[in-house]
Amino acid sequence: MILLIKFLTLSGLNNSPRMKVVATREALKQYLKEREGSQVGFVPTMGALHDGHLSLVRSARGENSTVVVSIFVNPTQFNDPRDLKSYPRTPEADLELLEKVGTDVVFMPEVEEMYPEPDARVFDFGKIDKVMEGATRPGHFNGVAQVVSRLFEIVEPARAYFGQKDFQQVAVVKAMVQQLGMPVQIVQCPTMREADGLAMSSRNTLLSSEHRTVAPKIYAALEAGREFADSERKAGREITPREVEKHITETINAEPLLEAIYVQLVNAATMQPARGWDEPEGIQACAAVRAGNVRLIDNIKFV
Ligand code: AMP
Repeated sequence: MILLIKFLTLSGLNNSPRMKVVATREALKQYLKEREGSQVGFVPTMGALHDGHLSLVRSARGENSTVVVSIFVNPTQFNDPRDLKSYPRTPEADLELLEKVGTDVVFMPEVEEMYPEPDARVFDFGKIDKVMEGATRPGHFNGVAQVVSRLFEIVEPARAYFGQKDFQQVAVVKAMVQQLGMPVQIVQCPTMREADGLAMSSRNTLLSSEHRTVAPKIYAALEAGREFADSERKAGREITPREVEKHITETINAEPLLEAIYVQLVNAATMQPARGWDEPEGIQACAAVRAGNVRLIDNIKFV
């Protein structure tokens, strides 16, 4: 990465009058100190950027005087070493995109810069991080909390932007800032989708063409679940959230190239299974699906 930044410096991108690229906490802190008093909007990412990420940066640009984006593939949030190894990395393209959307500074640290020593902290967010992604990817949210808390300590943002695409992650980050007493506002931005409905994801580039063709069926199945619930209720039939989960799961699994890992209708604040249809905080339908070697997640607001 240091070599990459040297290359970018020589090629002129890092000397852009509008965007700076830094690899150390020291350099980032120095940059922010020079802009003391300005409101910082922060977008943490793992790179391989797409329009979903850029929509977060655009929101940050619209609401803050300084926009910081981090690109860091955080090893502590990967429970599967093969997943970490195969995670897509496209740093040059990322920097070009970030400059176009008006980023002020990009933080691209090495692993040793973020974790000079291993992070031994163990977080507990009660029930929020024990279900769905937390239950099927052990240690994932602990790693997310480790890296996001470290990044927040360095950047000290007024606002930080996260995508609804990772719905449970937003809840975990909100719980984390509350627990640690961090004065940062967490802003949730809508999920950006491809024209065929597939939620944009860095992992989509890893899909085979066959899996890419059927992947939009995940979103379609979530939507079909809502239509199923509506039509059953209109017909005067009582239907439970569990029956809708079953309908969505079966719709996904009807496609031989897809395999549902979980489908859950949850209270949008607590992440616990919806018990009926009048959860006061609303209901979100969430799914994780295996498409070949790639694990995809998606969710829609249900009620
Ligand atoms: P990642 O690089 O996957 O860690 O994602 C960085 C941020 O971008 C997270 O807050 C994600 O929720 C958000 N994000 C990823 N995909 C999308 C999308 N399709 N629409 C909106 N935000 C997204």
